[in-house]
Amino acid sequence: MDTVSIPFRDKEIECASREKIEAIQLEALRRQVEHALKTDFYSKRFAKAGITGPQDIKTLSDISRLPFTTKGDLREAYPFGLLAVPQSEVVRVHASSGTTGTPTVIYLTQKDLDLASDTMARSLTAAGGSKNDIIQNMMTYGLFTGGLCFHYGAELMGAMVIPTSAGNTLRQLKFMKDFGTTMIHATPSYLLHLHSAIEESDELKREDLRLQKAITGAEPHSEELRQKIQDALGIEVYNCFGMSEMNGPGVAFECIFRSGMHVWEDRYIAEILDPDTMEPVADGETGELVLTILCRDAMPLIRYRTRDLTRFIPGPCACGRTHRRLARFTGRTDDMLIINGVNVFPSQIEEVLLKTPGVGSNYLIVVEKTGALDKLTVQVEITPAMFADDARVINALRDHLKAEMQALITINPAIEIRQPGSLPVSEGKAKRVEDRRTAL
Ligand code: AMP
Ligand code: ZN
Repeated sequence: MDTVSIPFRDKEIECASREKIEAIQLEALRRQVEHALKTDFYSKRFAKAGITGPQDIKTLSDISRLPFTTKGDLREAYPFGLLAVPQSEVVRVHASSGTTGTPTVIYLTQKDLDLASDTMARSLTAAGGSKNDIIQNMMTYGLFTGGLCFHYGAELMGAMVIPTSAGNTLRQLKFMKDFGTTMIHATPSYLLHLHSAIEESDELKREDLRLQKAITGAEPHSEELRQKIQDALGIEVYNCFGMSEMNGPGVAFECIFRSGMHVWEDRYIAEILDPDTMEPVADGETGELVLTILCRDAMPLIRYRTRDLTRFIPGPCACGRTHRRLARFTGRTDDMLIINGVNVFPSQIEEVLLKTPGVGSNYLIVVEKTGALDKLTVQVEITPAMFADDARVINALRDHLKAEMQALITINPAIEIRQPGSLPVSEGKAKRVEDRRTAL
């Protein structure tokens, strides 16, 4: 058999024995519990659960004594409720993609940022990246961690990073060609879109590009879609999982064997729990991923309910890493939609509709594919009085809804105005969302 050279950033930790990983986790968890007690939020929560300090965490399984933290908690704690260090120690703030309502923010000290960058650099190295790579980051720069947090990790690895951010496909292609980009970071839908743009281009052919790998994540996608992108672009596509609350895209990453995402267990405790009972599922079964970050000073986050459904892939990985692998995500336990990589809650759309005079009682949110990208349409019934009004008034209402929604969810929806009573009324639970996207 050919010997494959397997790249590591920190082989000793990445291939540590289970005993060693668990010892690191226990020590770090105790430290985080002690640290979290410095926040009002956790000192109240822990007191209720009878946790007074790290002495209450004797073994790793004692994590089950700790209360969960939710997105709602983060919103309530906005802006500084979860800060565990003086504000002057914070050097960076990030937030979850999408909403401009009350966002879920995280803060990082310089040490936190350095560690987050190291985790990201470790992830990219595991995927076969190196200082020789020219990495074009096509994720949005700004509050979204997919831009800056990825960027810092890629730089730390020593790669040359081109921070093109999202969109502007022709410019992306020009840079890919001119700089000889070898690796890109983009959502799966954007990767397909790039492929179509290459096919349609008169100026550029696939042979003009040096592209070898794409790192993709931020939204659910199937194994078939990965294969389709790999075949279309002639590259290797790596799945990566992250979320802003956990420092962004380097939480779990595929190694060169691309058979599930190693979750970095020296830096996170990953639990997979039955979303109804919140008890651990049997090994290898699907459940909700609950994460505890083990190395963040500015903002501890303990037993955070991600709402993402996944499972641990049993058995060892061919790369020799001992950090367990997460399978491709199969859905969520809440109604959050991910539209072109941006998180959207139907309740945010409803919020705009409910406060707008002239809007009727029924609406339908439709998500579908146009080409490779996702399209959001909101079908809105208007009141009989509004329906009888001038077309100009109705057009103004449409524009108003569009602008309000864009301001709140950061993506631009199409608004279709409907006659009163024209949308289907369901018996029982109203069906407000129609997701027509298929996995492919
Ligand atoms: P954000 O905090 O804006 O980065 O969004 C995080 C959410 O994006 C996660 O909770 C997941 O629902 C989703 N997500 C991120 N990466 C992946 C992935 N590789 N596969 C499926 N969903 C993902
Ligand atoms: Zn591996």
